[in-house]
Amino acid sequence: MAVNSRISGFKDRSVAERRALVADGAGVAAAALSALDTGGLALDQADHMIENVIGTIGLPLGVATNVTVNGRDHLVPMATEEPSVVAAASNAARIARVHGGFHASGSGPVMIAQIQVVDVIDPYGARNRVLEAREEILALADAQDPVLVRLGGGARDLTARVLPTRAGPQVIAHLLVDVRDAMGANAVNTMAEAVAPALAERAGGRPLLRILSNKADTRLVRARAVFDAELLGGPQVVDDIVAASAFAEADPYRAATHNKGIMNGISAVVLATGNDTRAVEAGCHAHAARDGAYTALSRFEKDRDGNLTGTLEVPMPVGLVGGATRAHPVAQAAIKILGVTSAAELAEVIVSVGLAQNLAACRALAAEGIQHGHMRLHARTIAATAGAAPDEVPRVAERLVRDGKIQEEYARQALASLRGERA
Ligand code: NAD
Repeated sequence: MAVNSRISGFKDRSVAERRALVADGAGVAAAALSALDTGGLALDQADHMIENVIGTIGLPLGVATNVTVNGRDHLVPMATEEPSVVAAASNAARIARVHGGFHASGSGPVMIAQIQVVDVIDPYGARNRVLEAREEILALADAQDPVLVRLGGGARDLTARVLPTRAGPQVIAHLLVDVRDAMGANAVNTMAEAVAPALAERAGGRPLLRILSNKADTRLVRARAVFDAELLGGPQVVDDIVAASAFAEADPYRAATHNKGIMNGISAVVLATGNDTRAVEAGCHAHAARDGAYTALSRFEKDRDGNLTGTLEVPMPVGLVGGATRAHPVAQAAIKILGVTSAAELAEVIVSVGLAQNLAACRALAAEGIQHGHMRLHARTIAATAGAAPDEVPRVAERLVRDGKIQEEYARQALASLRGERA
């Protein structure tokens, strides 16, 4: 079923109405989203996931609207505690929509496992001997995961290099594995452990670490979009976003914050879908420093028509099977809402949302400053923290914004006066 991610007035609806609209828009039965009622994770389920469980922690799950990727609409679930993230992604996606939305592509779901071999007497000879055993090592790796091989995945390549270290030269082998619709950490770790003895024997050394690299640069995903100049606020805003982008490219202090804005979008979807936020974050930041200096992950340029083009390319090791993606009921609901059928498609939506988020932050910074919109939404959190009940939050927040005092103490006073008026 074709999804329409453009739902007008979505933000003004009640939680129940929004959920019904999302179920309808995504073409899923309302019952498929029932896990969202309770935070979605029962104590016994949590107890099976990690150790020493004493409870669960709830986080808001919002849905970004207006997202189109490669001509297909998606309603995008985002789990985050930060106000304005979901609204910003939806607004930026609306601006991109006018010129066809996001266009995304990827390099394929290939992960790298590293095998470290130490105590090697002749490292350069050892490297060659390891590479001569390529076919044998790849076959041994494939034998560990017949399911993956049957699905068209499996070991693809073996590389090796001599790494000079302060502990002497070491031989480092990389096993490249197509992990299909998995994030793949467990899959490739199992393979690395299995091939390490044979590989070290060839090298004439001792196998030490055998684990994936989170610098997943054989699993790159890229997105681009054209953001309409007029909808952004005019030609000056376009020029100022280009200047802001250049600042982030040139300065690591700015780049860290620029990239954090990208991760606001990326991590929220990664978390909502039960994927490993730390793996994705490690990969993205490693990629940002790939040429030696930490820099911006995205680029903004002005096109021939005066519109803004944005591009973002990052490693995106996410899956639809394995880890918590299948074990967590909310992750399952999130995947249904997204309507993606492969890990590659999920990764393309995630990177597109990262670009949308980045554009929204750069636009706010270059135009009115970030605090304007952010503090409006933050006022609601402050109102709730000050003790306002859900039906009191909007009016208290409104008063904080109107009086320009978004502070907890003032929220307490505003709440007391509101209750006084009502009494
Ligand atoms: P997994 O082992 O649970 O699932 C992958 C397996 O599922 C494959 O090996 C395959 O046998 C099977 N499978 C079934 N259908 C498949 C399909 N369509 N495509 C691919 N495989 C399919 O999980 P995983 O994805 O290998 O590992 C992910 C987990 O590893 C995450 O929970 C992550 O947090 C964790 N982890 C991460 C790191 C790290 O990032 N450094 C290290 C260790 C573990």
